[in-house]
Amino acid sequence: MNTIDTIAAQLQGYDPQAMTADGVRDFLARLVTPVQETIELPLFEALGRVLAADVVSPFDVPPHDNSAMDGFAFFGGQLAPDATLDLQVVGTALAGKAWQGSVDHGQCVKIMTGAVMPAGLDTVVPQEFVQLRRTGEHETITIPAGLLRMGDNRRLRGEDLAQGKAALEEGELLTPARLGLAASLGLKTLSTWRPLRVAYFSTGDEILSLGEAPREGAVFDSNRYTVFGLLSRLGCEVIDMGVVRDEPARLEAAFLDAARQADAIITSGGVSVGEADYTKAMMKKLGDVAFWRIAMRPGRPMAVGRISSIKSAVSALSTGAASYQNESKGAVLFGLPGNPVAVMVTFLAFVRPALLQMMGARPEPEVLLKAHSVETIRKKPGRTEYQRGRVTTAPDGSLHVRITGSQGSGVLRSMAEANGLIVLHHGQGNVEAGDEVDVMMFDGAI
Ligand code: AMP
Ligand code: MG
Repeated sequence: MNTIDTIAAQLQGYDPQAMTADGVRDFLARLVTPVQETIELPLFEALGRVLAADVVSPFDVPPHDNSAMDGFAFFGGQLAPDATLDLQVVGTALAGKAWQGSVDHGQCVKIMTGAVMPAGLDTVVPQEFVQLRRTGEHETITIPAGLLRMGDNRRLRGEDLAQGKAALEEGELLTPARLGLAASLGLKTLSTWRPLRVAYFSTGDEILSLGEAPREGAVFDSNRYTVFGLLSRLGCEVIDMGVVRDEPARLEAAFLDAARQADAIITSGGVSVGEADYTKAMMKKLGDVAFWRIAMRPGRPMAVGRISSIKSAVSALSTGAASYQNESKGAVLFGLPGNPVAVMVTFLAFVRPALLQMMGARPEPEVLLKAHSVETIRKKPGRTEYQRGRVTTAPDGSLHVRITGSQGSGVLRSMAEANGLIVLHHGQGNVEAGDEVDVMMFDGAI
């Protein structure tokens, strides 16, 4: 397990006062470690979890050659490029009820989509391309010349998945399609990494919990609700610890309680420069924590590290908890700024990828959309800016993005209106109207 100091020593030019957004992501990737315990879950409970083992196909999918269309199955070697082909219908193959008889040259079998191809047959002519004639007690079809090639409209055994091959891989997030795929293999349960437990609380004496009487200078706590939503969308188990007053004893109790229960702790507020409260002091006392100034907007201050779940080595020994100390790594700390939009942006930019790594998810390169900015955006090189934007499709099909109102770091209104963040990269300067910009779409994250 890496400490702040060992990671700092691995990084060239590490400066906690001048972190870049990429530098933060790189640091966090070295700090966090994936959960180790697995749980076996029924499919209906596995949505959003991460696979802890490859899912190997126990059989070929499909298990037999079968028809891709409703039509007539026959031996394709009889097709000639410029001649029609007459075939006598000798039987019917239904999905779920194969046709067992033999089929000679000059004969065919009426077949439904998904039905097993009768032995020796390899080609299907869709029913809409043939005429059916009754001659005496027989039915005959005529296949037009040049319509088909041998093998057409037949699905081969093992075409989707071969027996023994990994159908899904460890580290894949279980999406609806992947659940369906697992079900198609007859699997009732899946081995998954256990969900992350994430505790969060808001700090600051001016923060009111819902239901408290408003008072001058105080604001309602919104951060716990955005963090709750972001964590829930990620499939984390959330532990809401409320608003914690700016008093050392309460902060200490909250951090210890959170570290005992959770894999990660998210706090908001109290990490700005010149902050006159006890939050930073308590993080320092209870953990291995770095305090950063990040070249970004909104955001800037952030604390990261690990909080120990025991008060101190001395008290642990006196309570006989020394062995517990070895088992417990403590919890990863993400000390976010207090401003409501800064919380969401730092979560999306840094916390989310780190939590995904802790969940055991395979790292996926971030997909950014390109859209034309409908307006000029002022931007200074030397910091990463995340602007709230709304992407729309123009009548010509191209993507346009506009900024959603005031970009103050406390203005949730413009965040609520946005469907993505315009990412103005570290070295980037002003954007002219019509220029393409990168957008991180909220997609399922928000
Ligand atoms: P801080 O980072 O503690 O200096 O807070 C910056 C700003 O965010 C201040 O205006 C706070 O009142 C506000 N703020 C801090 N925490 C919250 C919260 N949980 N909900 C809403 N606003 C907050
Ligand atoms: Mg504060």
